Amino acid sequence: MKLTERVRGTVPKVKVAYRPHICMHCDEAPCIAVCRIEGALYKRDDGLVIINPEKCTGCKNCVDACPFKTIYFNEDLNIAQKCTGCAHLLDQGWKEPRCVDACPTLAIKFMDESNAKDLISKAEVWSPELKSDLTPRVYYLNLPKKFIAGTVYDPIEKEVVIEAKCTLQCNGTTYTTKTDNYGDFWFEGLNDGKYDMEITKGPVSRLFKDLDTTEADINLGDIPLTCPP
Ligand code: SF4
Ligand code: SF4
Repeated sequence: MKLTERVRGTVPKVKVAYRPHICMHCDEAPCIAVCRIEGALYKRDDGLVIINPEKCTGCKNCVDACPFKTIYFNEDLNIAQKCTGCAHLLDQGWKEPRCVDACPTLAIKFMDESNAKDLISKAEVWSPELKSDLTPRVYYLNLPKKFIAGTVYDPIEKEVVIEAKCTLQCNGTTYTTKTDNYGDFWFEGLNDGKYDMEITKGPVSRLFKDLDTTEADINLGDIPLTCPP
């Protein structure tokens, strides 16, 4: 398992997201479809997708075919390798893989899907856009969404603006918040899309159109708003 780190936003409105990145043990797995060696890459009855190191010839077809890029090529052994779901341990009677056993915060669960329907109903797969072609069997809870943030200040008073009303709109849905004691506002948990935002304090306001969160979180930086005395 590898952890990928993604820096979200820009200084000083920054968050860092970490995501575990492993083989998704897909149904209709494209890695299996491209392997031409009988028995080198296959799905077990329990759902785990396995590369047999004794049969793999090192052609790398599967490395290129995996849309999640979870297969590594071992140059020394000339074989493809990836998460095995600790199939060898499960075969010895272990109830879960090593990562599940070792995680001190119990962040990883290994379950039969029929016993995990409640969790799965709240979860999502990593790249839902891939789901029409294959079915990943790893599910994520609490994947980070996007945020829009900024700081409102009065350039005449040289002070932050507290309790300015911030209104965000996208496709008929409205979100509101107020700037805090530091003039900061955060809209978190946003889906990808285009948002219009208005910041109002008394009779003055600022309007931002088409803030697009599709590619990244948005830090609007320091926003001047001159308030009447
Ligand atoms: S995540 Fe990649 S390597 Fe794992 S089963 Fe799916 S296609 Fe194959
Ligand atoms: S690298 Fe090995 S497992 Fe991958 S497609 Fe080639 S023979 Fe099959």
